[in-house]
Amino acid sequence: EDRARAEAWNGPGATADGTAVKLLANVADGESARGAQGQPVEGVGLFRTELCFLGRAEEPTVEEQTAIYREVLDAFAGRQVVLRTLDAGSDKPLAFATLPGEDNPALGVRGLRLSFDDPGLLERQLDAVAAAAQQAGVQVQVMAPMVATVAEAAAFAAQVRERGLVAGIMVEVPAIALLADQVLEHVDFLSIGTNDLTQYAMAADRMATQLAHLTDPWQPAVLKLVAMTAEAGRRAGKPVGVCGEAAADPLLACVLVGLGVTSLSMAAAAVRSVGARLATTSDDQCARAAQAALGALDPAAAREAVLAVLA
Ligand code: PEP
Ligand code: MG
Repeated sequence: EDRARAEAWNGPGATADGTAVKLLANVADGESARGAQGQPVEGVGLFRTELCFLGRAEEPTVEEQTAIYREVLDAFAGRQVVLRTLDAGSDKPLAFATLPGEDNPALGVRGLRLSFDDPGLLERQLDAVAAAAQQAGVQVQVMAPMVATVAEAAAFAAQVRERGLVAGIMVEVPAIALLADQVLEHVDFLSIGTNDLTQYAMAADRMATQLAHLTDPWQPAVLKLVAMTAEAGRRAGKPVGVCGEAAADPLLACVLVGLGVTSLSMAAAAVRSVGARLATTSDDQCARAAQAALGALDPAAAREAVLAVLA
């Protein structure tokens, strides 16, 4: 029954009361963007640009990057596209960017941190994004991964806006969720990466299968960080989305909306089941589901409490 309803659902994302929830696709390159383009999504919420270059020994030229980014912009012409700057390092090493031999790569020089010692890589990527946006004649939103301080967010936003692009950052480090109000003075939007936010909040490696009970976005401590971030977004009048795997779980999606998140970005294949579930869930149920999940002591209890609210 759920499956039939999901297949019939055709967007746009909204609760049963008609409150809009933007549903977006996570994409890796032009090909996956073209694959997602026919799904009922309002755009791309996370273009993981590092995935375009995993096999490369050398940094692609600005011209080559421009052409690759344009493929995604063209697939989603007229729709929102959020492009993430290179998140190299840790679980996604790039030969031309990642530092070898780090003891603790998840806590090392990854994502935006690569630009501290070598700003050229980020500058060239932003030049390529700006060129692609100009050629395609569209507005592009750009966000940085692994931001940890307000100063990093401000410096990144300045570089992005210099090129006429819209600036945001990912919320993946708990420090940023705690300081979301201050960060929002400098950026236009936030996007919560629940995969890494969970890893860092719970101090549990996201690749360690034996720690799956800790690397679970249903952990109440993680949901509390999401709530803090969403509340700061509401105070600032700026959008706060979720682009981690949590957004693809229909029950958790209702919780995230109840916590105040305004968009959900996920693998395109998940969008119909999330959309169909939201469409049958009222604003009040989302709010009560969020409170129930926040009040639970562990993921299993949170799920159970949310199921009782949404039944
Ligand atoms: C995340 O951390 O939740 C995220 C969306 O980024 P990635 O999975 O690419 O690290
Ligand atoms: Mg991440």
